[in-house]
Order: sequence, then structure tokens, then C-alpha cells
Amino acid sequence: MSYQVLARKYRPQKFSDVIGQEHVTRTLQNAIAQERIAHGYIFSGHRGIGKTTVARILAMAVNCRAAEKPSEEPCGVCDSCIEIRAGNSVDVIEIDAATNRGIDEIRELREAARYRPARDRFKIYILDEAHQITDAAFNALLKTLEEPPSHVIFMMATTQPEDIPQTIRSRCQHFSYRAMKFEDIMGQLREIVAKEKIPADEDALALLAEAGDGSMRDALSILDQAIASTADHLTADSVRGLIGSAPAVALETVMQAVAESASEKILVLVDELIGKGHSPTHFARQLVRFLRNATVAKIAGKDSALLQISSDERVRVGRIAELFTEEELARHLQIMLRTHGELSYKQEQRFHLELGLLKMAHAQRLLPIEQLLSEVTPKVVSTPRSIAIPSSAASTEERRPERVTPARANSVSPFAADSERKGTPKAEASADASGFAGEGPFDSRSGQVRATHPSGGNVVIMGSAAPAVVERTPAPRPEVRTEARSEAKPEVDAESLRDAVLNALNDRQMLVSLLETAEWTLAGNSLTAKVSASGTIIEMSFTAEARRIASAAASGLAGRPVKLQVEPGGTTQAATPRRAANGTARSRAEQDPIVQRMQEKFGAEIRTVIDYREKG
Ligand SMILES: [Zn+2]
Repeated sequence: MSYQVLARKYRPQKFSDVIGQEHVTRTLQNAIAQERIAHGYIFSGHRGIGKTTVARILAMAVNCRAAEKPSEEPCGVCDSCIEIRAGNSVDVIEIDAATNRGIDEIRELREAARYRPARDRFKIYILDEAHQITDAAFNALLKTLEEPPSHVIFMMATTQPEDIPQTIRSRCQHFSYRAMKFEDIMGQLREIVAKEKIPADEDALALLAEAGDGSMRDALSILDQAIASTADHLTADSVRGLIGSAPAVALETVMQAVAESASEKILVLVDELIGKGHSPTHFARQLVRFLRNATVAKIAGKDSALLQISSDERVRVGRIAELFTEEELARHLQIMLRTHGELSYKQEQRFHLELGLLKMAHAQRLLPIEQLLSEVTPKVVSTPRSIAIPSSAASTEERRPERVTPARANSVSPFAADSERKGTPKAEASADASGFAGEGPFDSRSGQVRATHPSGGNVVIMGSAAPAVVERTPAPRPEVRTEARSEAKPEVDAESLRDAVLNALNDRQMLVSLLETAEWTLAGNSLTAKVSASGTIIEMSFTAEARRIASAAASGLAGRPVKLQVEPGGTTQAATPRRAANGTARSRAEQDPIVQRMQEKFGAEIRTVIDYREKG
């Protein structure tokens, strides 16, 4: 007997053999039992999950000759059952709608449907890929469906039920099939290799199930090839070689290199993969799936049912998820999706893959620049607070510039704040990927201390509400790290803060004149100016921009976050002359802490100083 492919050999022959689609088979069996068989069925769902198989079983069940009436489970041995299974029953006609989609074919079908079945109870038409049928042909079919002869049953299998006209759909019973669960496919594969007496590693089966991607047929056809290509024992490596997959560890290594922004490492890895004969397209596809799973693991946890992958893969995906924030993963996924899309129609696929991977590595580097900008704030002398530095953190993490955050008071970028909140345990994960605990960034294991500001949160002026916290210190500075605390600096008073604010807001005359005559009070981190003006006036003059400038100036002077609030209901105060900043405009500019930090960080130089006060 000639070799029969596994998908056909093990095609379910009874409703009870069908795995993972109980909601369909149970309903159909009930309908048969109650003799309420419809004249139109639509079976929709992913490819290779048993739509046509169930259609055939249904055809067998209604035409089975073992009993006087349709039976809930076909006998499998009567003439009718055998013929249907073999696909040569005269009364069960399978039509591939992808090739017979025109009006002529459907008209022919309609004509033939008028005649009674040759032998069996029902004349059954199974239309595969039914969504391919043209609109005109559907219209022709509609006539038959509106007033179907009692002996006709149409079964339409489709992956795109939404492409079937509503008029047709409303005259059919619609069953949507579920994508098969990873575990279900694994179970089937285990059974089949046992029946075929092929020793197979569990890893190998897991790879097949993953490669099937919810489709039993796909998994089985790869298994067919794997059996053909392997002498005796089915191993993960042989399956991987067959489907051209890069080893899972390669995906993880690439993402680790991305996390470290190690561009050269990435290029070397690509070179190795190509050298071993892996296709860039396939690798990109693997990486897309890997990143998708990592993103899901980040959002829903690595044990989520949304991940249809083996337990080993879960661990790997979980480790990578810990290396990145949700935003980073989403960004990388987007980059890889685009890369994968481009690879299919581009020449020089290797270069496009490399470009895509390098883009991810660069995207990782975008963040520090954000941070850098957010850290251009005054340096403040402060009492050092010791924070234990985990040794692992000190040994790695060299790619990020130092996050010197003496007083991240008035400027926490949304990105920085976000990575604080979510945690960026890159150092640990890359140092000890296998033993990574997967905890939050400030877990007890690493000995990190979460230090929030005494006020319970910094004033964040860029729209983020996350408190700035002490960050893990990047290497190579294994000493203590400091944070400006309120006790670390001589307390400023409301009056000096007022001067700083008014100086900063100098070019906003209306606001300044309003604030000059206000009652100023300082309570904790909240600087309040009560003005004798209505809320509307305040709203008009104290804009978001002004609010930011004011808070920045006050925070800069105080060395901690200070937020300025302007409230109505104050009485007019005598406008005390504010202390002008000392010296010439240039010397004031030189002393300005922001300018100093700019000089330090970017090597900026002061070229021109314009004193708006003098200009009036
Ligand atoms: Zn039968």
C-alpha cells in the first residue's frame, strides 16, 4: 500500500475523534438526534483545524446506512460511509470553490441539486474555500438556499466567513472553529508518533506543535517530513533543521544584544545564522513571533493562556520580557514586523534583516538621550545616602550612560519615569539570565532600596505622575549613590523662591505683576502664591508653560521638587522689589545651573547673552 500522509491517515472519522471543537460536534450531534438538520452550514476558522473533516463526518452521519435515519455517529463501515471517506460518493460532492468559483459552475451545481440523490438520503455539497465564490455565483446559489429541495445540504468551509454575503450567511447555520490549543496538538502528536512507533523527544513535538501555529494539518505535514528525514529518533534539532528554524537560543541572544545595544554582536550573530543556511525571512518571522510572545508575557505574565507555546519557550520569553519595558517590546515588535514585511519583496534580504536588528538596538539607545535631557538640572550638594549596589549590576550595564540624578526634581521625563515604574532590570538579566528571578526591579534579592521622595512623590512637570526613585547605579561606579533630600540642603524660604520664580518668568509681564503682589507661602514642596485676581485671569496668565518654568526655577533653587500653585483669593501685597540676580547678564548666565550642566554634558559654550530685563 502506498504511503499515506499522516494528516489523512489520522483524519478523524467520527465526531468523537475530533479534538478541540466540541462546541461544534456536540451541537451537530444534537441536531441529528433531534432530526433538525439544516440545509446550509458554514464552518469557519483557521486553516487545518478540521472544518472539512467535520463536514465529511456530518455527511457520513446523515447518510449512514447503518440505521433507518441519520445517526449521531457514522458507522464507518457501510457503503455510504466508506465511499464518502474515500471521496467517491455520488451524492456527496466536494467542490474546491477556489477554482470553481464562477457563475457557470454554480449554475451547474444548482441544476444538479434539483435531482434527488442517487442512493443516499441527502445530496450534499461541500464547498471548500467558499469565500472565493464570486458575488454573481453567490446570488445564483442564494436562489437554491432560499427554497432548498428537502434532500439538499450545503456545507461551506471558509477561513474568511466575513467574505460570504450576509444573505447567504443568514440562511445557514454558522459554526466558528477554534484554533487548536497547543496542548491539544501536543496530545495528538504524541498519540500519532506512538501509533507510528517513532521515538520522539518531547521538545521535538513541541517544536512541531509551535510550527503548526494552531493548525493540526500543518503540524502533521511537518511531522511527515521529519519522519522521512530522520533515521530513527525524532529530536528537536532534526525538526529545527527541517523547518529551517534558528535555534531558540539564537532569538534570545539577539534580543540580549539588542538590550545591550551591542550592534557588532548582532552583526556577528546574523553572519553565523546566514552561514548556517538560515533564511533571513524565516528568522525575521521567528523573531516577530518571539517578540509577540515576549510582549504578551510582559503584559499578561509568562504563564498566560494567551501564550500557546511550550514551557521551555515560556521561560525564554519570560526572560526576554524582563529585559525590556512594554513600550520597548512594542517598538521592537513593530520594527521587526515591518522588517519581515519588507523582506518578502526586497533584494538583499540579509542587509534588510541586519538593518532591522540594528534599528532595534538603536531604539534601545534612544532612551538615554531622553534621560540625558531630563537630567539637565542643577546639581545640588547633598548628603550621600548609601544604597547597596548589587555586584551583578556593577559588573555589567555599560551601555547606558550614567544616570546621575542628584536632583531629578523638576524634570522627570515620561520615559525615565516609566522605566522607573516598570523597572529595567537589564543588568541582572544579562549578567545571570538563567537564574533570573523575574521579580520587579527593586526586589529583595538585588538588595535595592526603593527610595521615594519624602513628599511621597516628585513634582513631575512633563506630564508623568511616576515618582522618581533611586535607580540602580550603572557601572563602572560601584560606589554609593546619592539623592537630594530635603534635609540635605539648607531650607529655602518662600521669599527666595518667589524671587527665583519671578526672575524666571521675567518676560511674562502680566503674570509677573500679578505674582509680585501676591501672598507667598511655602508648605513642604508646595509653593503657593495667592493673588488678588479671579480664577479666569490666573488661568489665562499662568499657562502650562509658565507653570513649568516656575516650578523648574523653584525646584532648581530648592534642590528638590517644588511646585508652584497660583490661587485666587489673596489680598494685594506691597510689591517688594525682588533681588535681582547678581552681576552682569553673562556672569549670571555662567552661574545658571542649567547652563552649567549643559556645558558639562554637551560641552556647550555661551555665545550670546540677551538680557530681556534690560530690553524691557
Ligand atoms: Zn455508515
